[in-house]
Amino acid sequence: MSTEQTRVAVIGGGAAGLTAALFLARAGLQVELYDQDRSILKRARLLNLPGHDELEGRELLDQLRGKIDALEVATHEGKVDDVSVEDGGFRVHSAHGGDTSVSYVVLATGQGTLRLASLPVETTEARQPFVKVNVVTDRWGATSVPGVYACGVVAGWPSQAVVCAGSGANVAIEIASHATGSFWVDHDDTRLAADPE
Ligand SMILES: Cc1cc2nc3c(=O)[nH]c(=O)nc-3n(C[C@H](O)[C@H](O)[C@H](O)COP(=O)(O)OP(=O)(O)OC[C@H]3O[C@@H](n4cnc5c(N)ncnc54)[C@H](O)[C@@H]3O)c2cc1C
Repeated sequence: MSTEQTRVAVIGGGAAGLTAALFLARAGLQVELYDQDRSILKRARLLNLPGHDELEGRELLDQLRGKIDALEVATHEGKVDDVSVEDGGFRVHSAHGGDTSVSYVVLATGQGTLRLASLPVETTEARQPFVKVNVVTDRWGATSVPGVYACGVVAGWPSQAVVCAGSGANVAIEIASHATGSFWVDHDDTRLAADPE
């Protein structure tokens, strides 16, 4: 299967999910982003984001949305109600976005309760305050269900925008590496070519 035919559902459009969607789309995968628009970033003023003196969380969300829109990521505003395992992949059920078949699922649902009754991912008690549950993952974000990954606060990462964004990039790199068959690196080759050092 080519990368353009590999469909990935990203559930959650906060720091982690939008960054995962960006990296996946840049790798040439077909991304279906589902989001209820309840990111806690909307309440944050970021004074600790590399590359910025200060940035409103809403601005970060807008910047990331702009980038994924330019890459024609399919976005579905609304809740994912469930994810079921089907032959060779998964079926995402959403009253807002309809039902979609995908090869991979990225859980980036933040600090709330994970209510996906048909998806048997292993979970554990969260260490952080305000966080309801953590999905158990390995260092690449892989969960107990092959093909399902988790990033951001729901995966137990500290609730900091840069950390959660980085964990989204991390799972995207892992999925892109699986889909392309070699380790995926998203670098700007043009400048490397111009500088032999
Ligand atoms: C008041 C406040 C101040 C903060 N200040 C800072 C700061 O100064 N610096 C810093 O680094 N961090 C700060 N943070 C933390 C930062 O906002 C979080 O670490 C970051 O947003 C977590 O990213 P995430 O993607 O894991 O979750 P979120 O950004 O919360 O995104 C989760 C998304 O998943 C969606 N979702 C959940 N379930 C479903 C479903 N079933 N279907 C569809 N969508 C779903 C939600 O609607 C939401 O949009 C602050 C947070 C708060 C609340």
